[in-house]
Amino acid sequence: MSDTSVRPDVPPSGTGCVECLANDGWWLHLRRCAECGHIGCCDNSPSQHATAHARGSGHPVICSFEPGEDWFFDYRSNDFVSGPALAPPEHHPLDQPTPGPAGRVPANWESLLN
Ligand SMILES: [Zn+2]
Ligand SMILES: [Zn+2]
Repeated sequence: MSDTSVRPDVPPSGTGCVECLANDGWWLHLRRCAECGHIGCCDNSPSQHATAHARGSGHPVICSFEPGEDWFFDYRSNDFVSGPALAPPEHHPLDQPTPGPAGRVPANWESLLN
């Protein structure tokens, strides 16, 4: 990609969704903004912060922050794309539960997914 939507040198913002961690929320899966490193929660999560970040910031490309996944998604084409290796870590800590974070997930979480 020739634009600035993917910056391989920018590290992730942290180990969990920025907004969920600030607001006692929880997530199913995590996504990483390929431009600024913002970690947000996926569209199945209650708050969908990754998509909210893309819309609010104009950063159009995310990638998975899940272990073993290396896909990118471009909101402009609404399609999966390929991308380069990004600054580590490439996924959340392996001891972080799914859904996460530990201690914040309600017992009826499955009924709360989007
Ligand atoms: Zn979130
Ligand atoms: Zn961003």
